[in-house]
Amino acid sequence: MTTSNQLFVVDHDACFGCGACIALCPTNALSLIDLLAEVEQEACTYCNHCIPSCPVFALEIIEVDA
Ligand code: SF4
Ligand code: SF4
Repeated sequence: MTTSNQLFVVDHDACFGCGACIALCPTNALSLIDLLAEVEQEACTYCNHCIPSCPVFALEIIEVDA
């Protein structure tokens, strides 16, 4: 059972691989793979730091039912 009710999602239809979000993550949860931002969910602290950096609003933290 997961206790987390948050999920970090990347809209891969919107992401164009600019890399702006990658360097901002304090836990290095983000990486660029084939020009798409990928998140390592276990490393993400849902700090929101990277979210405003995306020019195409591809980053989002959503609430999910536990
Ligand atoms: S929300 Fe915070 S920890 Fe998660 S990917 Fe963005 S900058 Fe990194
Ligand atoms: S800032 Fe947005 S467009 Fe740029 S790599 Fe990150 S998710 Fe993709």
